[in-house]
Amino acid sequence: MSNVDSAAARILGPLSALLHKSLTITDASSPADGGTSIHLPASQVILRCEDGRPFTEVEREFVHTVFDLIRTGAECDLRIRDLEQRMQKLRHENLDLIVQNRVLSEVSSRDSLTGLYNRWYVLEKIDVELNRSVRHGSPMSVLMLDIDHFKRINDSFGHTAGDEVLRSVGQVLRESCRVYDVPGRYGGEEFCIVLPETRVGNTTTVAERIRRRLAAASMPVGSTSVTVTASIGIAGMDCVPEEGVLSSGDLIDRADRALYSAKHRGRNRIEMWDAELSH
Ligand code: GH3
Ligand code: MG
Ligand code: MG
Repeated sequence: MSNVDSAAARILGPLSALLHKSLTITDASSPADGGTSIHLPASQVILRCEDGRPFTEVEREFVHTVFDLIRTGAECDLRIRDLEQRMQKLRHENLDLIVQNRVLSEVSSRDSLTGLYNRWYVLEKIDVELNRSVRHGSPMSVLMLDIDHFKRINDSFGHTAGDEVLRSVGQVLRESCRVYDVPGRYGGEEFCIVLPETRVGNTTTVAERIRRRLAAASMPVGSTSVTVTASIGIAGMDCVPEEGVLSSGDLIDRADRALYSAKHRGRNRIEMWDAELSH
């Protein structure tokens, strides 16, 4: 049954009253008399005048106009429903894309060996935190960490074993950082940890915790295990007026110099950058 058919059944009573005629509807296949019946547009039914009085031209035009309006309205409803369904589908597709996008950006920010953040993400994070420091005057710090004599592990146990140790180092770093710290693998056996909202002077607790835990961790290598130590260099932006604005390159260079100093002074230790190291 079309929309016009069902509308005809519904408005038959009021239409009869309005036109002062006894109206009925019959199947369009039944014989029709041109004067007393009207074939409704886009419909399977005929509107008939039971008492045999023919429809006037005005009545005929009125009936056509009414049912044309009903048909157009029904078509609009259908189109609106179709559009709503398409919108719903697009909304679902959009949600799928948002999820896929999140997965992709998560994958592209991770180091595949250790599961820590990768170098590019860490560099981006340093830039973000430096900008925040400049805008809000909040401090931030960076730790550069390098495994001591890591070459020996590779030489003694092989590269695959070395990889296993790097994974364990990643695990220790993850467990030793605070939730808002950003631990990443900077490259090779070098790691970088961004400490937002942290004054350089307050980084020693985190750095010392990492150093101690690394030195104490027994790291499985095949059927045996090894221990490693790390040297850590610290630099930061304390946002004191005399300090000026640092770039991410400046900050990493300072942390690197401090790290080099820690290596030079015997390894398995922490050093903070100070101006002397830049000379
Ligand atoms: P130092 O205390 O001065 O840092 O000594 P080191 O032996 O750690 O430093 P060096 O730079 O001489 O050697 C780093 C070693 O790390 C050499 C390199 O083969 C190894 N390495 C770098 N990336 C990886 C990696 O992804 N997997 C493995 N297994 N080894 C790596
Ligand atoms: Mg090393
Ligand atoms: Mg190194």
